[in-house]
Amino acid sequence: SFFKHPTMQITKQKLKLTAARLVNHHVNLAVTGLSGSGKTAFITSLVNQLIEANEAAQLPFFSVVRESRLIGVKRDVQPNLTFSRFAYEDAMAKLTQTSSQWPSSTKGISQVRLKIKYKKSRGLSKYLTEEATLTLDITDYPGEWLLDLPLLDMDYAQWSRHCEEELSDPKRNALAKPFFAALADLDLNAKGDELALQNIAELYTQYLVDCQSHGYQLLQPGRFILPGELSGAPVLHFFPVTGTQLEQQEVDLNNPAKDSNAELLRQRFKHYKTQVVQPFYKEHFKRFDRQVVLVDCLSALNRGFHSYQDLQKALDWLMGSFQYGSSNILNRLFQPKIDKLVFAASKADHITPDQQTNLVKLLESMLHSARKQIQFDGVITESTAISAIRSSKSGLGQLNGESIPVLQGRNEQGSAITLFPGEVPQSCPGPEFWKQQQFEFPKLSPPILNAEHVLPHIRMDQVLDFLLADKLE
Ligand code: GDP
Repeated sequence: SFFKHPTMQITKQKLKLTAARLVNHHVNLAVTGLSGSGKTAFITSLVNQLIEANEAAQLPFFSVVRESRLIGVKRDVQPNLTFSRFAYEDAMAKLTQTSSQWPSSTKGISQVRLKIKYKKSRGLSKYLTEEATLTLDITDYPGEWLLDLPLLDMDYAQWSRHCEEELSDPKRNALAKPFFAALADLDLNAKGDELALQNIAELYTQYLVDCQSHGYQLLQPGRFILPGELSGAPVLHFFPVTGTQLEQQEVDLNNPAKDSNAELLRQRFKHYKTQVVQPFYKEHFKRFDRQVVLVDCLSALNRGFHSYQDLQKALDWLMGSFQYGSSNILNRLFQPKIDKLVFAASKADHITPDQQTNLVKLLESMLHSARKQIQFDGVITESTAISAIRSSKSGLGQLNGESIPVLQGRNEQGSAITLFPGEVPQSCPGPEFWKQQQFEFPKLSPPILNAEHVLPHIRMDQVLDFLLADKLE
């Protein structure tokens, strides 16, 4: 036993070491956010910054670069062959062409794999610098899909009631007129008519699309707006029914007539939950180690009070997917493992540097209650304001003899403009404020790039450091 003891210890230590290395050598990073929040721009920039890190990229806050330990980053064959490939090359082609354009936005799930080769900060022996490789898989998916998590805890009758409440908002109600009209003509007790259901589902989808263009973001079911590969599939051909209609036609949704329209709707709702929502969580979400959630606070301010409030509500729903302890829906499906979460207010190049802290405060005020819960569940969170593809330069301008911070960029048509973006509120102003004042953070054209094709940014290096530094030690 005298000899056995030390050997055993060494073996144990070795095992530990190997295990630690295996873990450290792979990170599954997911990027999400509601439509238009900036996912495509963010991932394009992230890949660009990493690939160009040792050339012309500006990443002073990314420790592995600052310490000159980064050897190189390459794109690699992606692991999941059934996913689309994140269209990095297309995005760069659009950004670098003569009249540069923003890349096409996220429509479904896609992936890109990078191999990051670096020198370890502390080798096994201090005389030897060891090289290591970190495999980074980045997955892009629509935040709308996360709005479906609470559906898993509802049956069709409950979901219908929930939707009815939402549809009672006067603006939403007006947009739903064609849907309501078609729904009123449907006999729920009649024999299931697939075509009729499809037509009404299309009107319901159109209602969601119209809501979206009116600045609403809590749009659900999530796949109706962004169906991905399910476009046109019958699993998406359902919709909520109203309480009045159920009463008039004497339908009990928990016990509908056999083969009736009501039964078909109920089955499809169930199918959507078990065959669409659950698989996303079971097959993809559960593999994510780290998550970035992008939030476009500025566009919501542009669109006004109702849009801002709706974004707030949508975020509350979306955050449910990261509150493991309390939302035992996920715990029932699997053990989630995300350990770091970044909330980033995107497009921070629309405001002057002195307003950046206000933007972070505004974001934090939106996340307040949900975020506390997440911290409680042991996930490390960070909130920040970023610009993935910085399209403005900041400077000073003169207004009424005073020197004030301004931005210079190009408007959507590509002409040079100077902006006085003004102040960002630290929290959402009350309804009175909006009657007198409006926000205007205009859309900008992407920047004209230098010969090296490195994307200018704001704080992408800090995000990279938060997400990856501990895996690149
Ligand atoms: P997605 O739907 O989440 O993939 O959003 P995108 O990445 O396609 O971004 C939507 C739009 O937001 C883009 O077309 C740009 O107009 C704008 N945008 C995104 N990131 C930035 C940024 O860093 N700066 C500026 N000025 N605009 C941005």
